[in-house]
Amino acid sequence: MVSTLLIRNGCVLIVNLNKFKFITKLENNYDSNPSYCSHCGKPLTFKKFYKQFEFEKKFCCKKCASQYPEVEVNKFSSETEKTIYAFLSLTLPQYNIRHNITDIFPPYEIDMCIETEHFPVFLEFNGTLHYPRKNGYLTKSTVKHQINDKIKKIEICKNRQQKMIRLWSSSGLYSKPEIFEECLNLVLDSINYLIKANNDYGQCIDVVYTGKDIYRYKEKFKDDIIEEDLD
Ligand SMILES: [Zn+2]
Repeated sequence: MVSTLLIRNGCVLIVNLNKFKFITKLENNYDSNPSYCSHCGKPLTFKKFYKQFEFEKKFCCKKCASQYPEVEVNKFSSETEKTIYAFLSLTLPQYNIRHNITDIFPPYEIDMCIETEHFPVFLEFNGTLHYPRKNGYLTKSTVKHQINDKIKKIEICKNRQQKMIRLWSSSGLYSKPEIFEECLNLVLDSINYLIKANNDYGQCIDVVYTGKDIYRYKEKFKDDIIEEDLD
């Protein structure tokens, strides 16, 4: 059983990672094909393996890790982002997936990029920081996030005619594993849709969890015309 402690607004939340079905599946299959410490070769527990999921070299302890120069690895800004990355790496093992990328559109950071055989699919996770406070007020930082979201979409989808998927949630997704997985499956479905369609114009797909419903919104950026479609 893997649990993780999250501290939000002074409250301690215990999130059981096993509630994510895809992680349970990964854990159930883990013992027959475990990961080993890159230094001493000792098998890693599932907990240690998952904690170091995004690292190429994984270690059983600090001592083993200290034998290697620290590799510069971009850190995830939240457990939510790490879960998205883990889900996509496991469901799309054929593609290289990069995260926290700063060389695509500097100085902006793009959360993830799925390098498919046809084109890159950029993925952004826009959580509660991208929404107004509960009282309806926009803070300076929310305004900044919203402006940046717009700038990134225009640059990637309209100017560069590339593909972008954005997952939006106005309330914490990490503490709602079932809804989170439903959103992740819609993101996966959207990636597969873009690959299959293989269109040569810019596209943006928004998967939105409103706190109540999940919906998907598609935009085409073709011949300077923006077409919209809701499903
Ligand atoms: Zn070791």
